[in-house]
Amino acid sequence: MSVSAAIENFRKEIPQNVTLIAVSKTKPISLIQEAYATGQRDFGENKVQELVEKQEALPNDIRWHMIGHLQRNKVKYIAPFVHLIHGVDSLRLLKEINKQGAKINRCIPVLLQVHISQETTKFGFDSNELKEAINECKVLEWIKPCGLMGMATFTSDLDQVRREFQGLKDLFDQYQSNFGENPTLSMGMSGDYKVAIDQGSTMIRIGSSLFGSR
Ligand SMILES: *Cc1c(COP(=O)(O)O)cnc(C)c1O
Repeated sequence: MSVSAAIENFRKEIPQNVTLIAVSKTKPISLIQEAYATGQRDFGENKVQELVEKQEALPNDIRWHMIGHLQRNKVKYIAPFVHLIHGVDSLRLLKEINKQGAKINRCIPVLLQVHISQETTKFGFDSNELKEAINECKVLEWIKPCGLMGMATFTSDLDQVRREFQGLKDLFDQYQSNFGENPTLSMGMSGDYKVAIDQGSTMIRIGSSLFGSR
């Protein structure tokens, strides 16, 4: 299936209130342009250098989402233009984003990443750390906390995935009043977005189902 047909299918399938992020990591500019031509404007990347290169080469009205693990020393490269940083998983990273925002007078939109999977390799706050991070956001002038993000365990056991997403949704509901006028819950990828939407996701990050396998 072509990229444009895959995007049209997703648009038909998902509810109006769910934002589709086209995850274009490792994919060439030409495929992003094809997606762009259908009206797609939200794109996700997980590496800073690739994100910066693509941002420079592509139209200015694209909303770029940083969805991967972000190193503190690279925040400065994306601070001026990034639409939303999904993977904020430490207070030190939060403070660095705040510092870079202050330098350029830009309040930077972020999602706090919560560790919901059983895998130790996935990043994110536990529930106590999350509480601390949300409090920290209140004193960081250049951080705009917009919601939460999480990744479920990579498993075919969809009941487990459902429980993990449900746990994230519960935290989201608990803290929603801290997330501004348009609270965002970023959960769901190609393999589990249906479960995520059932559990209240407002933003899905889809790569391989749009652009093919990597
Ligand atoms: C790669 C990636 C995705 C997209 O994964 P697919 O399975 O290809 O849809 C979503 N979220 C994050 C954080 C990713 O790194």
